[in-house]
Parts: sequence; structure tokens; C-alpha cells
Amino acid sequence: MKYLIVLGLIALIFYLLLFWRLRRYMPVVRQIFSITRSLYRMTKGAESARPAAESRGRSDGERLVRCAACGTWIPSGRALQLRSRSSVYCSTSCLENAAAEPQPTRRSAKR
Ligand SMILES: [Zn+2]
Repeated sequence: MKYLIVLGLIALIFYLLLFWRLRRYMPVVRQIFSITRSLYRMTKGAESARPAAESRGRSDGERLVRCAACGTWIPSGRALQLRSRSSVYCSTSCLENAAAEPQPTRRSAKR
């Protein structure tokens, strides 16, 4: 019988300690909770806002630029540009073509 009382006391102390610890950690836990909630809201908001912004940008009409190699008009968002040049290209093949023969006259002079 004595044993049981001691065990109960130990359990009570343990419980109190656990409760105290949890109380100490409560603000941290709450903070983490609020952070995750705000993060979740942010990602959700971004997902809902992204298609609207994209469609708006498309409907407004992007600035058109002309491919320096083939002369095709393309939206500036899709255009490819070399850092060293001011000209833009519609595709990688056009860009490669332009990069492969920068000065045809010099090449003919070499040969
Ligand atoms: Zn092109």
C-alpha cells in the first residue's frame, strides 16, 4: 500500500514537471504554429494570385521585340538575349546561328 502512494506521488511530480515544461514551451509552440499558418496562407495566396497576374500581363500585351536573325516579332518575355549584344533572338537556333557567324567577311578573308 505504501508503495502505491509513493508511486502516485512520483507520478504527480512527474506530471507537474511535464506540465511546467509544456507551459514554458507554450509560447514557442504557438509561435511555430502561427509561422506555419502564415506560411500556408502566403503560399495559398501566391497560388491564387499568380494566374491572375499572368493572364493580366498577357492581356495587356507584352512589348514586342524583333528577332535579329530571322526577323520574327516575339514578346520580350520569351525573347533570348546575349549579354554582349543588344539584339534579341526568338529561339536558341537563331541565337546559335548568329553566334556561329558573327562576321562572315572576316571568315572569308581567313580562308
Ligand atoms: Zn529568329
